[in-house]
Amino acid sequence: MNRTVAILGAGPAGMEAAACLSAKGFEVWLIEEGLEVGGHLNCWDRLFPTKRPGQEVMDYLLKGLKGVNILTSSKISEITGENERYRIKILEKQDIIADAVLICTGFIVFDATRKEEYGYGIYDNVITSVDLESRFREKKEIRMKNGEIPKKIGMVHCVGSRDEKVGNIHCSKVCCVTAVKQAIELKEAIPSAQLYCFYMDLRMFGLGYEELYKESQEKWGVQFLRGRLSEAFENQDGTLRIRIEDTLTAKPLRMDLDMLVLLVGFLPSAGTRYFSELLHLQVNPNGFLQPLDEHTLIHDTVLPGIFLAGSCKGPKNVEETLADARSSVIRLESYLAKRS
Ligand code: SF4
Repeated sequence: MNRTVAILGAGPAGMEAAACLSAKGFEVWLIEEGLEVGGHLNCWDRLFPTKRPGQEVMDYLLKGLKGVNILTSSKISEITGENERYRIKILEKQDIIADAVLICTGFIVFDATRKEEYGYGIYDNVITSVDLESRFREKKEIRMKNGEIPKKIGMVHCVGSRDEKVGNIHCSKVCCVTAVKQAIELKEAIPSAQLYCFYMDLRMFGLGYEELYKESQEKWGVQFLRGRLSEAFENQDGTLRIRIEDTLTAKPLRMDLDMLVLLVGFLPSAGTRYFSELLHLQVNPNGFLQPLDEHTLIHDTVLPGIFLAGSCKGPKNVEETLADARSSVIRLESYLAKRS
């Protein structure tokens, strides 16, 4: 079948879709603005809920890319329709002519410095869940800035999500279970540490998540306190004093901690925003790309031949991302079959 598909974005969704389309005999161009394929999966150490190494999934995805044309460091400047096909102009590279385009530009994580009152980028012992994940990935010991082992660690849920003050009302869906996974990993690394999760609601929606949550309490003694962090301050010795609004008792709570981990939420990536503007695609109130119908046409856009997959449409875990990529391949195939 002599049909060409261009995939914009080489994170897990783009890689999986590229592998499936290539296996079906399509000519596939996987175009990535960054230096390498893999997206955020390159940053995750172990995946919830089983704590399997993220590298195992990456190895699986990389294996599928034989036969796929991969262009990294490639910035797309223009996409124009041309006789029911699309011409994709890439800066300083050849144009690609494609019968269909699949947008897989994913998400970015919330910039925690925007919540100045939490002290990220100001106090040394305030880190994000992404920073913590890199420390796990690089097998670094978990230490405070002064080299001491933290004895009391707080995990703050919903940072940059469900927060009208920063303009994001959506739930990022995976940060509750990420907090539970990381709290367990911190206990594995520092068994004597006391772990506190500060949450608004706990959203353990996936298979095995509730069990992980139970394990965190029963086996590891992680404590869950319902409340929203209002402020963090640094004590003279570098430890942190936090103020929590306890939403159950409506009483303010103060606590001293050695380290604070902010569970940063998901936002549309720069690429997702760029293609929404370039192609005049619909977006939802949170800026993610909106499919033509959220139940029945979950990959279609207002433009024929331009499709969506993965977390450019909203927060997803890894298995949902891969499943969405595979179903987009079925949709692309039927679209191209009708045209031939
Ligand atoms: S998944 Fe949990 S931490 Fe993340 S935004 Fe939703 S409720 Fe908040």
